[in-house]
Amino acid sequence: MSKPATTSPTALALHGGAGARAGRDYSKAEAHLLELAKRGKTLLEGGAAALDVVEQLVSAMEASGLYIAGKGAPPNKAGYAELDASIMASDAGALKRKAGAIAAVKNLKSPIQAARAVMNETPHVMLAGRGAENFCRGRNFEFINNPDDYYVVPVGVLPEEVTQTELGHGTVGAVALDQEGRLAAATSTGGVFGKLEGRVGDTPLIGSGTWADEHVAASCTGLGEYFILAGGAQDLASRVRYQGADLHQAAKGLIKDVASLGGDGGVIAISKDGDVAFAWNSDGMKRAGFGPNQELFAATF
Ligand code: ASP
Repeated sequence: MSKPATTSPTALALHGGAGARAGRDYSKAEAHLLELAKRGKTLLEGGAAALDVVEQLVSAMEASGLYIAGKGAPPNKAGYAELDASIMASDAGALKRKAGAIAAVKNLKSPIQAARAVMNETPHVMLAGRGAENFCRGRNFEFINNPDDYYVVPVGVLPEEVTQTELGHGTVGAVALDQEGRLAAATSTGGVFGKLEGRVGDTPLIGSGTWADEHVAASCTGLGEYFILAGGAQDLASRVRYQGADLHQAAKGLIKDVASLGGDGGVIAISKDGDVAFAWNSDGMKRAGFGPNQELFAATF
């Protein structure tokens, strides 16, 4: 791949959900996140587009069964998994944005790939339910034929917690900055434990769960209802854009509002300068990343 004329620093942040509970072992998920962050670094430093990188890494997290997304999605109260995902990208400088999302789909193997197809191939930003499934079937997206054999309980989650009514949670997300200064964000989830059939949280809502403008890319995880009420990823970006807040203050500000509303969760964000921020108010957030001022790492607590 040839290098662009002006080379921006590259940066990446990943999360594997903020539903981590103190005292549990997330080493398998951490090792996976570290491996993905390394892969993302190689791709970005080789000139890959931020959009391709976030899609690829979120898709790998969906397929792993280590997180509450894709293969690790929990059943809703009616007994089956409903999946949500969204993706957004911007160009450097110019006001040029694109986004796609998919909500409440059943048995789709990679919701994030479907979200990207909505972005690329339709005049819409979101498709939901049966229409979304038909759209994916029409494009030969892979569906799971034996959901009972496919879905698993992710690491760090006790089997009985999956069907409980207390809204436990976890999600996957990625944000990236590429050499051309483009930002992208992607988020995918099976939603919260014990959710009602048809419930859609913040994850597929552009602006709530996912946002990428010319200044900031962000991906949220946590009790989605509270992120929607707090304004979510776009609120974080607006703090930077209109208030001149530093990325870390902006991330903390969003999470403070989520907490004040009664919710919990976390957020990852990257600025156009390559600053990388992580904030959460739960016990922990599975996360990884790197940037010009951030050595490659993975951690939970
Ligand atoms: N935000 C997701 C939702 O509410 C869940 C999560 O991030 O853990 O569906």
